[in-house]
Amino acid sequence: MAVAAALCAARAGRSVVLVERGPFPGSKNMFGGVVYGRILDGLIPRWWEEMPIQRWVTRRQTMVVDADRSLSIDYRTGAWGRPPYNGATVYRPDLDAWLAEHAVAAGAQLVCSTTVLGLIREDGRVVGVRTDRPEGELRAQVVIACDGVHSFLAKEAGLYDGFDPHYFTVGVKETLSLPSDVIDERFGVRGRDGVDIEILGCTGGIPGGGFVYTNRESVALGVVLGTQALAAQDRRPEELIAELKAHPAIAPLVEGATLQEFSAHVIPEGGFRHMPDLVTDGLLVAGDAAALCLAAGIWLEGVNFAIGSGMAAGQAAAEALRLDDVTAAGLSGYRRRIETNFVLADHRKLAGVADLILSERVQTAYPRLVANIVERIFTVDNPNPKPGFNRIVRDELRRAGVRTRDLARDALEGLKGFG
Ligand SMILES: Cc1cc2nc3c(=O)[nH]c(=O)nc-3n(C[C@H](O)[C@H](O)[C@H](O)COP(=O)(O)OP(=O)(O)OC[C@H]3O[C@@H](n4cnc5c(N)ncnc54)[C@H](O)[C@@H]3O)c2cc1C
Repeated sequence: MAVAAALCAARAGRSVVLVERGPFPGSKNMFGGVVYGRILDGLIPRWWEEMPIQRWVTRRQTMVVDADRSLSIDYRTGAWGRPPYNGATVYRPDLDAWLAEHAVAAGAQLVCSTTVLGLIREDGRVVGVRTDRPEGELRAQVVIACDGVHSFLAKEAGLYDGFDPHYFTVGVKETLSLPSDVIDERFGVRGRDGVDIEILGCTGGIPGGGFVYTNRESVALGVVLGTQALAAQDRRPEELIAELKAHPAIAPLVEGATLQEFSAHVIPEGGFRHMPDLVTDGLLVAGDAAALCLAAGIWLEGVNFAIGSGMAAGQAAAEALRLDDVTAAGLSGYRRRIETNFVLADHRKLAGVADLILSERVQTAYPRLVANIVERIFTVDNPNPKPGFNRIVRDELRRAGVRTRDLARDALEGLKGFG
């Protein structure tokens, strides 16, 4: 995230220009809504007292759905509603604008409504950017590209060796207005407490998932869809959102809400194996521009990874300038920093899960299988006696067409990836 990079480089005493094509930081960004703030501990002490949050997430559900059924793991804890907190829902324009205020206070110069058109290079080294302003060349010893997914700057620098569309999803979100007391009642929370629901099985067979997050006076509801599979069929994302809103597990939560905003954005989901090179002479790449969003089924975390990598890039740039070496070797402190913190450690650990999560079995067969098994366990079918669990599982595996060896292999992959 550019604001985090700018803040760190400015704090280190460097001269920083933060270029944003929107009228203010955050104006062009979108995300589902949950941010994990602990990465800010070292940057803004007691950040939770000033971060513009909507609600603290104190209840988290992981829900599996099919047609009209649902099964949830519903976890709730008071601890996430107290410092140092866990996740919070935020409006992205509020979050970015707040971080930009810190960057400006630290000495960064904010230049909005300005689009970067390309890189300036000399002898193969990046020495600045061209913008759409009259006489808009901006020379810099280090450029940090935080221009989001499909980064034009990283591509122009030759850091990507191609894109595989299989590893990109499109996230589509509705922001639905509801009074705060209605949200409190429907989601079973009070005050600033909020809810995060992650949903599997709601995407009509397209690899992806769904989410519902509570803000103060709105609910964010959306689906994330594999772009290739979406393009290969004839349903539109808004139809899938309408279906999710009509699902019996979701409909009572959003009934009567007014559509306030509709937004969409591409997500890089390839993880560790599909990242570009992160550094070249004079240039660092951070956040979604470097495909650093972590999308691993039960986790969709991009903003903390964008902040974490942005901070590391800002620090590494300042270090390279101090040592008077802004070549790729001089900027290698960036990779070192994100190798040793969560950014690349989490990605490395979860490198194998993207394929598993996006597979047909995880997306479609397993949600149905689990719902079938649970339904049979809880259905009282008198006068027939209750069948044993073994028999139910065997029957349902056969009915779902899932082979035991595939299930075992997926379980092993899951254990390896998440374990
Ligand atoms: C539907 C959806 C739900 C999501 N939910 C979550 C969630 O709940 N939690 C989470 O952590 N992550 C979530 N993510 C992922 C998250 O949105 C991204 O990982 C995150 O936004 C990446 O931040 P970034 O700053 O790297 O990139 P972006 O947010 O894409 O920001 C790029 C910035 O660069 C600017 N820019 C681009 N090109 C230029 C240019 N040429 N000149 C000047 N400025 C330029 C843009 O205006 C923008 O400000 C979600 C994503 C989607 C689509």
